[in-house]
Amino acid sequence: MSTSNKRAPVTHFHPISSPDYVPLEQLRELQSRRLAHMARRAYENVPLYRERMQAKGVTPDDIQSIDDISKLPFTMKCDLRDTYPYGLFASPLKDIVRLHASSGTTGKPIVVAYTKEDLSVWDEVVARALAGYGLTKNDIIQNSFGYGLFTGGLGLHGGIERLGALAVPVSGGNTERQILLMKDFGVTAISCTPSYFVHLIDKAQQMGLDIREFPLRVGIFGAEPWTEAMRAHMEDAAGIRAYNIYGLSEIVGPGVGSECWTQEGMHIFEDHFYPEIINPQTGETLPDGEEGELVLSTLSKEAMPMLRYRTRDITTIERDTCPCGRTIRRIRRISRRSDDMLIIRGVNVFPSQIETGILRVEGTLPHFQILLTRSGGLDQMEVRVEVNADVLGDTIASIEGFKQKVAQSIENIIGLHIRVTPVTPHTLKRSEGKINRVVDLRNEGK
Ligand code: ADP
Ligand code: ZN
Repeated sequence: MSTSNKRAPVTHFHPISSPDYVPLEQLRELQSRRLAHMARRAYENVPLYRERMQAKGVTPDDIQSIDDISKLPFTMKCDLRDTYPYGLFASPLKDIVRLHASSGTTGKPIVVAYTKEDLSVWDEVVARALAGYGLTKNDIIQNSFGYGLFTGGLGLHGGIERLGALAVPVSGGNTERQILLMKDFGVTAISCTPSYFVHLIDKAQQMGLDIREFPLRVGIFGAEPWTEAMRAHMEDAAGIRAYNIYGLSEIVGPGVGSECWTQEGMHIFEDHFYPEIINPQTGETLPDGEEGELVLSTLSKEAMPMLRYRTRDITTIERDTCPCGRTIRRIRRISRRSDDMLIIRGVNVFPSQIETGILRVEGTLPHFQILLTRSGGLDQMEVRVEVNADVLGDTIASIEGFKQKVAQSIENIIGLHIRVTPVTPHTLKRSEGKINRVVDLRNEGK
């Protein structure tokens, strides 16, 4: 199969499930019914929800329709930490069949729980995501998300099997072997973090292999922010179509939302997870089309209902319907998470902006690191970026010129002039799971 054929858009496929296409009225009716049930379940079984609702003067009887959702209190990440480990469970442990945990950045992990029915819903939404990329039971899917407490591995795994495709559960790590298996097993799709896939592409090159010649045609990437520039890089370098999948442990894991073949925004499986956008400062609900913080409520989760969970992910709910025909709404690519925001000399900067700036300049590679230091009381930011060996001529003038080009490209986006240091390929640390691109030394030695 030629590379160009592999990349032809998938324009028709067989949806495995109808909720994606359900008429809006019917969807709202389902959401209303499920929300009423969820609010009651949370109120009756979880002290924190009962107290919060009582404090707002709300009882389960007040929640009759999906529009009543704004009467409910928000839930925050700290609520999961404060009730660690089992305080938000609405099912007795005997009915819970799986736990996952997310390390978070600091302190206690957060724990999430699933009943058998919850796992079935999770498998279903991931299978719907995969079907949206045109994958079928004929596909062989290498799942390189880490298996374990992290939701990525087992989450994708269940969906692959539900779709009836063939799962290759390699998990993360052992990159050379991953490439050999991909080739030998005739793998047609891979799931992992985008940063890990870029590492796989490099490693294959080092091994003298070209992934474009493999049967691989679809990449399923998520768990961390990535950009359109990164998509172009991966699609080109591997001869695939790269799709975005979104999720978070608190709601279910991967499969809360996912792109379809149009690659324009991620459909939220809103028959199970209801999205709202709020102004993060005031908590006020914003209409579709406006940017703000994504808030998600589970509509069917038994073991651990989440009422209006504040994700801290910044996005917009699309107003238009999608050309793919799904009626469930879409959110825009999540390029910013409020936790990832860096404040440099008073300017808000997100790592995804740096990624876009870097990849606009020819010769850069999608491996970079952001180094923060402080000198003379001022924040300094340096970006180290790997570059193609042949781009840097050996004259000092050409290296300077290149640095300036990258610095200017970044400045065009963030409005700040920062220092750029090109480094040779394979010098920066690689990640097997979620990548952390920021090294913050601002408080070192104080
Ligand atoms: P943690 O909060 O410890 O990172 P999770 O594994 O639950 O734990 O990660 C969920 C978060 O990962 C989301 O809230 C979001 O910030 C990020 N994320 C997941 N998928 C994507 C994606 N496709 N694009 C951007 N960010 C994503
Ligand atoms: Zn669509």
